[in-house]
Amino acid sequence: MKKVWIGILIFIAIILFYGLTMHLTLSLNGNQEIELPVFQEYNEQGAKGCYSDIFGFCLFRPEVKINGEVDTNKLGDYYLTYSISFGWYHKKIERKVSVIDLIAPVISAKDKQILTCPGNEDINLEYTAFDNYDQDITDKVVKRIQDKQFIIEVADSSGNRSSLEIPIVYDDDEKPIITLKGNNTVALLKGEKYVEPGYIATDNCLGDITDRVKVTNNIDYEQNGKYQVTYTVSDDLGNTTKVIRTVYVYEKNPDVPIGDKVIYLTFDDGPSNYTGQLLDVLKKYNVKATFFVTGQGNDQFIKRAYEEGHSIGLHTYTHQYNTVYKSVDAYFDDLNKVSDRVKRITGVESKLIRFPGGSSNTVSKFNPGIMTTLAREVELRGYKYFDWNVASGDTGTTNTDKIVNNVIKSLKKGNNVVLQHDTKKYSVEAVSQIIEYGLANGYVFAPLDITSPTVHHTIAN
Ligand code: ZN
Repeated sequence: MKKVWIGILIFIAIILFYGLTMHLTLSLNGNQEIELPVFQEYNEQGAKGCYSDIFGFCLFRPEVKINGEVDTNKLGDYYLTYSISFGWYHKKIERKVSVIDLIAPVISAKDKQILTCPGNEDINLEYTAFDNYDQDITDKVVKRIQDKQFIIEVADSSGNRSSLEIPIVYDDDEKPIITLKGNNTVALLKGEKYVEPGYIATDNCLGDITDRVKVTNNIDYEQNGKYQVTYTVSDDLGNTTKVIRTVYVYEKNPDVPIGDKVIYLTFDDGPSNYTGQLLDVLKKYNVKATFFVTGQGNDQFIKRAYEEGHSIGLHTYTHQYNTVYKSVDAYFDDLNKVSDRVKRITGVESKLIRFPGGSSNTVSKFNPGIMTTLAREVELRGYKYFDWNVASGDTGTTNTDKIVNNVIKSLKKGNNVVLQHDTKKYSVEAVSQIIEYGLANGYVFAPLDITSPTVHHTIAN
């Protein structure tokens, strides 16, 4: 019996011993401090809890409670608490998770190289700075220029830095620009002094460099001819611009055609509202021309042209190809109408003719042979018809300078019959330049009359 009591006592002693020495343990899986890149997923590795004996033998695993949260989209330190309980035993442990940004911002620039004027420090460049966490941080960029490099630097809110170096090339291959005031061509009456109308010179790097312009001219005021005023300017790197203004020195047209260079200016299809302007120009230079008129326009222009010494010719009344070239009779019916008009206004019958479309026209082909017949018939009836050997091209272009050029380049020694239309403003505006060129180059202007040299095209119908 006694032995039994001893046995029970030993058992109780063992239980008490265990009760006093067994304990609760809690340990983290993984590190106690974790650095986690922002936007990356956080994997909870948990913790291990254990109620164990002195030999470490785990008798029981209580459930671990985790408190706290990690916002992986936001930088910062987060604390997670792990706890277990067993009876009157409690255990608590903590883990620190730091959400951090390790990625540097990205700077982008449009240009790989900057080309700029020598000495220029005010350099503009298009760039952007973008960070994985802060997003657009372009306005945080710091710029500087050092050793021919344009340096852009930026740091994000976590101190990650980026920089971009763009080479600067100091060069200038752009020429200055000279803008002439006034006209590009100037006409001077013999003996008249040239007055500079002015000019402006600008350079992409230097700005206004008008005071650097050198002006020279080769004008002989006593000699008819074509001269040049030359404007030259250079920038610091030797890019040079040269501009020329043309000067014509001319004499007023003598009243009697002389010499072997004659220009007959002829104007078809009018009169029109531009005829008055044209007559003013002709008057200024004392140049007489020829008007092949139609049924249109105001009588007063025909009257004035006649009174100012210009020749009035006949171009048909309607200028309708399908009417006037229908038959010989149809042609003369129409011609008589315009002839009557001219006679009524000037008191004189005109014997000068120009065929609509010229004698070489093909618009009359609907009536085969009509031009051959008419060409013979008009002469039998005492008329003289004129074509032209200088085409102004004013039916093909509306550009006054082109018209001037077309005429000038076609002029040659001998007789030049120029075709223009006084119904076209841009053609009328070419006349003064044509005259100035002609007078400066020894041409004489004359009106056509019945004795004028014949200028005929080859008849095509
Ligand atoms: Zn015509």
